[in-house]
Amino acid sequence: MLVSLYNTASRSKQEFVSLEPGKVRLYCCGPTVYNYAHIGNLRTYIFEDLLRRILEFNGYEVTHVMNVTDVGHMTTDEDAGDDKMEVAARRENRSPWEIARFYEEAFFHDTARLNILRPHITPRATEHVKEMIALIEKLEKGGLTYRTAEGIYFDTALFADYGKMARLNLTGQRTEREEVVADDSKRNPSDFMLWFLNKPTHIMQWTSPWGPGYPGWHIECSAMSMKYLEETFDIHCGGVDHIPVHHTNEIAQSEGATSRPFVRYWMHGEFLLMGKEKISKSKGGSINTLQSLIDAGFDPMAYRYFCLQAHYRTELNFSQEALAAATAGLRKIYSLSTENDSLAQNEEGFAAAKSKVLAVLNDDLGVPQAVGMLNFYNSLRLWLAFDSVLGLQIAEHVHREEEPIPAQVQALISERSAARAAKQWAEADRLRDLLISQGYEVADGPEGAAVRKKVI
Ligand code: AMP
Ligand code: ZN
Repeated sequence: MLVSLYNTASRSKQEFVSLEPGKVRLYCCGPTVYNYAHIGNLRTYIFEDLLRRILEFNGYEVTHVMNVTDVGHMTTDEDAGDDKMEVAARRENRSPWEIARFYEEAFFHDTARLNILRPHITPRATEHVKEMIALIEKLEKGGLTYRTAEGIYFDTALFADYGKMARLNLTGQRTEREEVVADDSKRNPSDFMLWFLNKPTHIMQWTSPWGPGYPGWHIECSAMSMKYLEETFDIHCGGVDHIPVHHTNEIAQSEGATSRPFVRYWMHGEFLLMGKEKISKSKGGSINTLQSLIDAGFDPMAYRYFCLQAHYRTELNFSQEALAAATAGLRKIYSLSTENDSLAQNEEGFAAAKSKVLAVLNDDLGVPQAVGMLNFYNSLRLWLAFDSVLGLQIAEHVHREEEPIPAQVQALISERSAARAAKQWAEADRLRDLLISQGYEVADGPEGAAVRKKVI
């Protein structure tokens, strides 16, 4: 079926045509592993996961690459400030290498809990420095770089289409960026660092043709995406914050080096907001990581379902109330059964509903509309047909409910009924708490207690 995607480069929805029939080469900017991912970051990875799953549902074989940034991402996207990895190392009194491996593992633990499919290739920046150096040398040969005491810069004035995808107004951008320019020997404020030099206190260092130093953040993504997906590939994703600087610079470097188009479709996910503000990894206290959300009693799948209810190109406001509503909605889906499923036996109705849902999914990831339709049909069979796309683990949860209650749990239930009959309330409460701690829900009614495995 036809898939259309909104391409940031053309600012319009376009019919998706892959470079190679039946195959998609997809690159997503990965996490900077200096802290736990916040739930805003995770929203972007959910969006990218949905994109991949929808393409796969349509029969494409997707090669999904996502890098791990473990060096070179400065505290501003424009190269000013310190390397985030080194700041974290000082904060936690560990080496930047330890920081990188620790938060990388935490990241993949979070994405697994959200049922985000692991990208096929997850290259680390620190393991691709050789490729980055080769790319910088290519740019140097092409005359697109210059050297200052700070490092090797890309000269953006020499790349004709600089800022085209982002539609940057360079005059405006220049003044806007002036405040963060740390190096006044830069030729143009939008020039960016390819290789940092003369940073003796920076722990992560590599030798290079220009002297010891470390790579800039943008060159990482150009080098790794082109290594694994070739010089021109189908789709490149990230959050909207990457449009004006990071992706703009990736295009300049890649096309500057190869003289070929870099990416065919640019896709960007809008931000998750918390009380109208941007979420940051550094703000403590409130719910801003997946773990803090779990600690507050929420299920990761409820967060996924919450994200599914907003289109990836609209901002989404996070609140505990909204997450509680998503939990209730998901519980309703998990409690569906085949018994009163109007589409269970109706082949024609099922096929028609399925193609309607698929049509909205294929219209630039119309996930919220698809969820709305699925809720309207209220058919377990139909939800299950899209379980591999939405990733809500419906099959697992519905199945879990049908599992028989094990004998030792049954014994606790009987003991508790006996305690209640004997009006031993404290003992009955203790047994109820024991059942709950083993993952069961206990609802007392006139007919006695109903006990079932807790769904979420
Ligand atoms: P970082 O780890 O900072 O490099 O960011 C990882 C991803 O999260 C990038 O694709 C960002 O664009 C994205 N991102 C950052 N903040 C938010 C947010 N509040 N909502 C959604 N995505 C975000
Ligand atoms: Zn990137």
